[in-house]
Amino acid sequence: MTTRFAPSPTGLLHLGHAYAAMFARDLAHSQGGAFLLRYEDIDGTRVRDEYYLDIERDLAWLGIQWDGTPLRQTDRLTDYAMAINLLKARGVVYPCFCTRREIQEEIQAMDGAPQGPEGPLYPGTCRNLSPEQRQHRIDAGEPHCWRLDTMAAAEQTGPLSFTDRIQGKIDVDPSLLGDVILARKDIATSYHIAVVVDDAMQEISDVTRGEDLLASTHVHRLLQELLGLPEPIYHHHRLILDAEGKRLAKRDKALSIQTLRERGASPEEVLQMVQP
Ligand code: GLU
Repeated sequence: MTTRFAPSPTGLLHLGHAYAAMFARDLAHSQGGAFLLRYEDIDGTRVRDEYYLDIERDLAWLGIQWDGTPLRQTDRLTDYAMAINLLKARGVVYPCFCTRREIQEEIQAMDGAPQGPEGPLYPGTCRNLSPEQRQHRIDAGEPHCWRLDTMAAAEQTGPLSFTDRIQGKIDVDPSLLGDVILARKDIATSYHIAVVVDDAMQEISDVTRGEDLLASTHVHRLLQELLGLPEPIYHHHRLILDAEGKRLAKRDKALSIQTLRERGASPEEVLQMVQP
């Protein structure tokens, strides 16, 4: 059994992170397994250097010890590029030249744009370009991202499912998040690619994460299958909510581990706040 905690160094850890880290560590340790730390740091616009150390200091203070050297996704860009190339070779991604504004306009003009769990999905505009149009625009240097051609991908994989230890067996719905971005315009990769490539490389047997990421797992199963990567077991756990029932965000400074520590809370008291 190997689990991991994968925070982004874009802010301080809060109670929700403490719960997620504890969940992953306890699961690994319940079976004598390893608990790894991974930095999801590909978003250079939001990452700040000091947060890596802040995260390690907060985890150490909470008594949550990880095994080995933390992995940084920024050290893994070559592997992500290889995965994207493989998907290109399989014909399951396409370049998308749309700007945010163009996508919004397209959605507004449509009568009933496809909806995902968090709002309208990409309407598929660039999926309909011909190979010549694509090549012409790439050659002309037009900025573009690469999107998953969900339906082409699902046709290649056939029906898929995954096991969630909390919710049971779940059938993959390939259209749930639509044609998601797999290689962003600015960083040529994405959360979805990085997470499946790293879970395989680090031999993560059990992926534990918040239930807000359940929809993403449908995409991840498709990608694992297309890339020939192993299928982990999933545990989508509850989220820690604030007093108003909203999920904690990094901008809510009040419940950061650092603030709680500065206000005199002990590690035991903080962990007590997120007990199941
Ligand atoms: N970075 C994500 C988070 O903090 C975790 C993603 C994952 O575990 O796949 O929620």
